[in-house]
Amino acid sequence: MEQRALRKLVDPISKTVKSFKKSEVECLIRLFYNLLERPVGKLTTKGMDQNTFRGVLHNIFGMTDDMLMNRVFFVFDKDSDNYVSVQEWVKGLSVFLRGAFEEKMKFCFEVYYLHGECYISREKIFDMLKNSLSQQSPEEENDEGVKELVDISLKKMDYDNDGKISFADFEKAVKKDRLLLEVFGPCLPDAKTCLHFETLVFKNNPPASF
Ligand code: CA
Repeated sequence: MEQRALRKLVDPISKTVKSFKKSEVECLIRLFYNLLERPVGKLTTKGMDQNTFRGVLHNIFGMTDDMLMNRVFFVFDKDSDNYVSVQEWVKGLSVFLRGAFEEKMKFCFEVYYLHGECYISREKIFDMLKNSLSQQSPEEENDEGVKELVDISLKKMDYDNDGKISFADFEKAVKKDRLLLEVFGPCLPDAKTCLHFETLVFKNNPPASF
């Protein structure tokens, strides 16, 4: 039964992602249902809810920043129904784990701008930098310092000088200096975490634990 349910999912999902082999897509689907503690193909909801997904980001990918974890959830949830479906899961992980630089750039930009507007505004840069600084040193509350950083970021990335960062601005800046990719906060797993994840999930499927 489980095998049949799995096969029904693997083929259509494999067609949408180039960076995973079929056997790997199968492992990721199994993991998805394992995490939800459901048999493959048998969900009672539309997928993984925000809390469960944040647990995955935290426990498996070592993310700690609440604001960024929420934003990553919204980027994974492509159809905005507040659940990450198994299709959205595999697709999102393909960028997360094996995305080409261009895909990662688009992903980070989407995390930073959040839905709605297609640019990163001065206010958002302020919020993100303040948030990321307060995680580093919670005792220091210094809006002036953050404002200064916002100005520096805009100076560096706002090529057309309209006070906000469009995707074209972001792309240009990040291509020039790859360190700017996660400039407003870490939203992609590092290489070591990816390798660890792939080893566990693709070699010992399903993994006993993380
Ligand atoms: Ca969804």
